[in-house]
Amino acid sequence: MQKLRSQLRNIDGKSYKGYKSLQGSYQFQQYKLAIDYVQGDPFASPSKIRLIIPDKDFPIKKEWIQGKQRKIYTEDVIARHVARAIRKNQATVRGSGKSGLLSIDVPGQEILERTAVTTDGSHTTICLSVGLPANGRRINGREAEKLFFQIIPDILKQSVFSIKDHDIEAVVQLADQQEAIRKKMKENNWIAFVADGAILPRESGISNRPLKKAVPFQSPEENRVSIELPHRDEPLTGMALKQGITVIVGGGYHGKSTLLTAIERGVYHHIKEDGREYVLTDPNAVKVRAEDGRKVTNVNISPFINNLPHGEDTGEFSTENASGSTSQATNVMEALEAGASTLLIDEDTSATNFMIRDQRMQELVVKEKEPITPFIDKISQLRDELNVSTVLVMGGSGDYFDAADQVIMLDEYIPHNVTQKAKDIASQFPSERKHGDESFGTISDRIFLPESLDSRKGKKSKVQAKGLDKILMGKVDIDLQQVEQLVDVSQTRMIAQILHHLEQKGWLKQKKSLSELLDEIEKQMDTRGLPSFTPRPHEHPGELARPRRFEIAATLNRLRTAKGLSPHALKR
Ligand code: ADP
Ligand code: MG
Repeated sequence: MQKLRSQLRNIDGKSYKGYKSLQGSYQFQQYKLAIDYVQGDPFASPSKIRLIIPDKDFPIKKEWIQGKQRKIYTEDVIARHVARAIRKNQATVRGSGKSGLLSIDVPGQEILERTAVTTDGSHTTICLSVGLPANGRRINGREAEKLFFQIIPDILKQSVFSIKDHDIEAVVQLADQQEAIRKKMKENNWIAFVADGAILPRESGISNRPLKKAVPFQSPEENRVSIELPHRDEPLTGMALKQGITVIVGGGYHGKSTLLTAIERGVYHHIKEDGREYVLTDPNAVKVRAEDGRKVTNVNISPFINNLPHGEDTGEFSTENASGSTSQATNVMEALEAGASTLLIDEDTSATNFMIRDQRMQELVVKEKEPITPFIDKISQLRDELNVSTVLVMGGSGDYFDAADQVIMLDEYIPHNVTQKAKDIASQFPSERKHGDESFGTISDRIFLPESLDSRKGKKSKVQAKGLDKILMGKVDIDLQQVEQLVDVSQTRMIAQILHHLEQKGWLKQKKSLSELLDEIEKQMDTRGLPSFTPRPHEHPGELARPRRFEIAATLNRLRTAKGLSPHALKR
């Protein structure tokens, strides 16, 4: 500690590079400070430090970290407290560039496994980024002293050292409750649960916070279930969606997409004030949408697309620029390849010709001239042969009534179960359309060849997240804008790390199929943690959060450099 102080006084006023000499660790009264990485200049991305607090100074009760879920929630709430304290103490350091800028990877509405704060029963580690203070391009040792000896200790005092047991216990209880709902869902084959009273709409298109003055969710009687939860007297009631085919209908603007989006996000867990904390979905549910312009590499889309005009092979389809329908077919097939057990589809983001084809159009354009087998002709096979459920928003066509197991109608944001009515209508006005009744077809299980990750085209082998929905691999852009269930930029950073790791360690040389590769990646995250994918796992690993296998797959699938994949029929 005194060593750091005298070092700072020594280098005060010297060239900024002098900060490099600080790299190392320093014992403070209640914690160890590790300066892992020092930025090259005051404008570069900030330096990385860790604060390592022993259990005696910040006691973590055993039960708070018992089981993976509780541990994640405990770490998450600590990170939120630190973030709050940082906000209060910001802007007291002056200087050029990023001088004094302090930050922690602040969690959003979701509770994700994250590297910002970790606790292992003997220590709690807080990872921060800090802009080391400068005057112009010279070291400002005085301000740095203030930062390390006053501001950071104050932040810890106001967060970690003043956190109440109650604050942690509250999130541990939420973890238990969400886990209990998930367990019940599994036992009963429910793919989604939306609690009564849940707030589904968000403040705006760019905010993930709850809309104020929203109409709270109310379950339709036919779907209402009741779940006994730990740490709560009254059982929780809400709407359960069974496995199978659910069609959500209703007039425009009555809340269909809002419900589907909430279900989409229910693969993650949300914080207490979110409004969706008791909205949970099959963790293997994948949103599929049209995404024209995307790259496709050797995907078997033949269940949906056949006999293209130029005779392209759809059993191993590739394109630099997919159309609406081929991109949506690809997204379905890739989701299945990665192991999706529920598909979520909204008419708003679908290609019409992929979703429906009515009788009149069937009469006019004969089957031989139509390459597309619409989703409606495969939805039952998905359920019956592959045990894959679908939740579909469809306000524009009643043709899905025949296939639906249940129909939910939204009326001014309130859902009603109208299955019987829809079935009656279906028999009263039978659809004369011819349906396909062939089996679903095969799902490819591709192998990505090592060249796929050859980023050296752009010389640097750097892989970097550029915001939530873009990864830069060398000079190659990976566009993730339409990957809707990627929700946190730290997940994107983690995916970038994974790609880098795969390339560095030559994982693709083993010629594993994509699904096996995803299994291995998940296994390593489970057993060795997220930092194991970084070059220096025992230092500040960067700001990372755990992505799902589907979003990792989505990234590989959108690689414009993907190469030489040989499809294998996947047996499921
Ligand atoms: P649809 O898909 O049926 O056309 P949306 O889901 O897009 O409708 O919802 C239309 C609008 O209503 C959106 O602005 C949304 O934020 C709002 N909305 C949705 N659900 C609710 C609710 N429960 N309470 C208040 N506003 C809502
Ligand atoms: Mg809509």
